[in-house]
Amino acid sequence: MLPYFHFFILLISRGGKAMRGMMVFVSSFPVLLFLGTAATGAEFGGKARVETDNFIVMAYDIGVARKVGRDIERRRGEISRALGIADTDPWRPRCRVYIHDNWTAYRRESGGPYWSEGYAQHVVQRSETPGRNGSADKVVRAVFMFEKDSYEELVSVLSHELAHLIFGDALGPCPKIPLWLNEGVAVSNQGDGLEDYRKLVKRKVKSGSFIPLSILFSEGKYPEERKLFYAESASVVGMMLQTYGNVQFLTFARLAAKGVPVRRALNDAFSSFTGSVDEFEDEWKRYVIERH
Ligand SMILES: [Zn+2]
Repeated sequence: MLPYFHFFILLISRGGKAMRGMMVFVSSFPVLLFLGTAATGAEFGGKARVETDNFIVMAYDIGVARKVGRDIERRRGEISRALGIADTDPWRPRCRVYIHDNWTAYRRESGGPYWSEGYAQHVVQRSETPGRNGSADKVVRAVFMFEKDSYEELVSVLSHELAHLIFGDALGPCPKIPLWLNEGVAVSNQGDGLEDYRKLVKRKVKSGSFIPLSILFSEGKYPEERKLFYAESASVVGMMLQTYGNVQFLTFARLAAKGVPVRRALNDAFSSFTGSVDEFEDEWKRYVIERH
């Protein structure tokens, strides 16, 4: 069974010395409208805590916390390289990872939708007065999740959420990443279950019942057919990376996150592609038939 996930980015404005009340500016994803504020992990009851270069892992079991601490650093490097992001600055403050012991506590703390398996939080705190060393922006990152049946499943969910954070960092201070692109990158990096997704997409392309890319690209909220949405998004991202390479892919992602219309972003980023979205869909379908 493949999990579904959720992610969001907040921009919180902070006054100079005193907090002047928090304002949420960016709502790339509709779920923000009812979330409103950043989860803090204040209610987390686990006592196991491991600190690594970029993370503070909190769990109920010290063995799990240690293992996650080790593997999550490795995955951070692997995902960055897969996306063509060479030198990632250390995360300060460190990204907090909360591994709850049950689903109810996870949901209460994260505010994630009922179907989510993990939750990545990327909050940009912007101060109106610059700090001593110039930029006063501070990015606070956190991942919320809960214990799984197997450790592999846990790492898969972590990898998915981690990919959201790394991708969010790579696209600038407060990107408006299209939903399909964000989930496509995260699913591509979760490791587990990709084969099932590829089979599903191939079946749907063959029968003509896939989500047309013109619709996929403009989807602002998770559609009813969530599994197909995740699978197709990952397939298109995979095709872009394999056909055009990660430099052109990141150029495309940056344009898309700035709100450039998708045809123009495709033409500007992918040097050998000059066609329409429908023609891009034809190219993707050929890729699915040959490579999935
Ligand atoms: Zn996700």
